[in-house]
Amino acid sequence: MAILSIIETPDARLKQISTPVATVTDAHRTLIADMLETMYDAPGIGLAAIQVGVAERILVIDLQPDADDTPDDAASEDIVRIKQPRVFINPEIVWASDELSVYSEGCLSVPEMYADVSRPARIRVQWLDDQGASNEAEIDGLLATCLQHEMDHLNGVLFIDHLSRLKRGMLLKKLEKLRKTG
Ligand code: ZN
Repeated sequence: MAILSIIETPDARLKQISTPVATVTDAHRTLIADMLETMYDAPGIGLAAIQVGVAERILVIDLQPDADDTPDDAASEDIVRIKQPRVFINPEIVWASDELSVYSEGCLSVPEMYADVSRPARIRVQWLDDQGASNEAEIDGLLATCLQHEMDHLNGVLFIDHLSRLKRGMLLKKLEKLRKTG
């Protein structure tokens, strides 16, 4: 496995529309393992393939960014967090609720910036898993928000594209300043 470098805005590759995966191969499974390692290292709760420069419709999610496979202090903790990696290939939303949910989103490609984004609270999604098997489920809560955020990446959309031009400009200016000062 390898930690890949994450592309950041304003890199034009983030605007690319990713292509569907025709057949899930070992090469995809290697990419997925690397994407998971990269996401845990960042750390983040979701990563789309285009964020590591691969324009294919693949994304990984784990809502427990501080999870550990082998917690050595597990005995002293009330809650043992176990990694829950989820893989979505060619995800499609087949239904979305009218009810919306607002969450303060961030993105590994827009580091350190957060803003409220409103999205459908519940969605029904179809996707392929890493073995190429098809799945369908109704999803809500943070997973629904995160999945929609990652699916946007597959269409060249960042969470800041959901904001007003003014708000987006302010965030990007802040990011530029942050990069200059390190
Ligand atoms: Zn993102």
